[in-house]
Amino acid sequence: MPLLKLTFLGTGGAVPRGDRMLPAIYLEDWLGNRVLLDAGEGCQYRLLQFGVSPASIKLVAITHSHEDHLLGLPGLVITNKFLGGKIEILAPKSMHEVLAKLGVPVADSASAGRMEIKCVEVCHTVDSCGWLFQWDLGYKLIDKARDLPKWALTELIKGRPVEVGGRVITPEEVSEGGRRVRRLLYTGDTAPCPQMWRDVERVDVLIHEATFADDVDVEKVHEEGHSTVADALEAARALRAEVLILTHVSARYVDKSKHRRLAAVEPPPHVYVPEDFETILVKL
Ligand SMILES: [Zn+2]
Ligand SMILES: [Zn+2]
Repeated sequence: MPLLKLTFLGTGGAVPRGDRMLPAIYLEDWLGNRVLLDAGEGCQYRLLQFGVSPASIKLVAITHSHEDHLLGLPGLVITNKFLGGKIEILAPKSMHEVLAKLGVPVADSASAGRMEIKCVEVCHTVDSCGWLFQWDLGYKLIDKARDLPKWALTELIKGRPVEVGGRVITPEEVSEGGRRVRRLLYTGDTAPCPQMWRDVERVDVLIHEATFADDVDVEKVHEEGHSTVADALEAARALRAEVLILTHVSARYVDKSKHRRLAAVEPPPHVYVPEDFETILVKL
């Protein structure tokens, strides 16, 4: 079953709190891909506390060069290499030259089987990538296909026509709903970003920053390249997300009750405001 496991290793932003570390999210999909989204200070220790070896991380996707998202990267990469892992860094192009000094491959897109990741430009104060994940689930076959040989079913699900008994069968003939593609976007730090919404069009899961609740000068927040809970909700509606997860909560909030109250106003989407170390399972 297409299932995503998202563990929030750090849900703070800029300044840590005892119960809220700097940004890092561990993503594991049902295909076995293990990706770290941002590498806040101490992220390798958090992975270890959670029972995940830093050597098992194949990709670490950094959104931008601000230190709260980056300071855990050198330690993670060094441990990964020391333990014989094969890690690759994804980052905005402007960071590639510096990050290459860590001695591992650096790129701004990746693919692994049915999963693809690419950079989408977001609206922050420095060159920043939101990371857009896409999983190709193939075609959903209808009952009519049941009598075909197993090898033919495998090909048809992947979207390839087959020849059985001298007849060519296309995936469209024996499936419903077209090719199924599921998408997740992690914004990193961003102000409301209509240009990005237009480029991306639609996602199933949106992990959006909500540095602030509603008790701030909104114009100033946007100038500083950040969002409020209302901004994140607007982004989720623009992107038609079914699931919205809010993170990067400022240390000025002693707890997340304000965020939760504001986020609970308008379902859908289903909104979650996870604490550090919380895991959310999402069925795609
Ligand atoms: Zn930040
Ligand atoms: Zn930032």
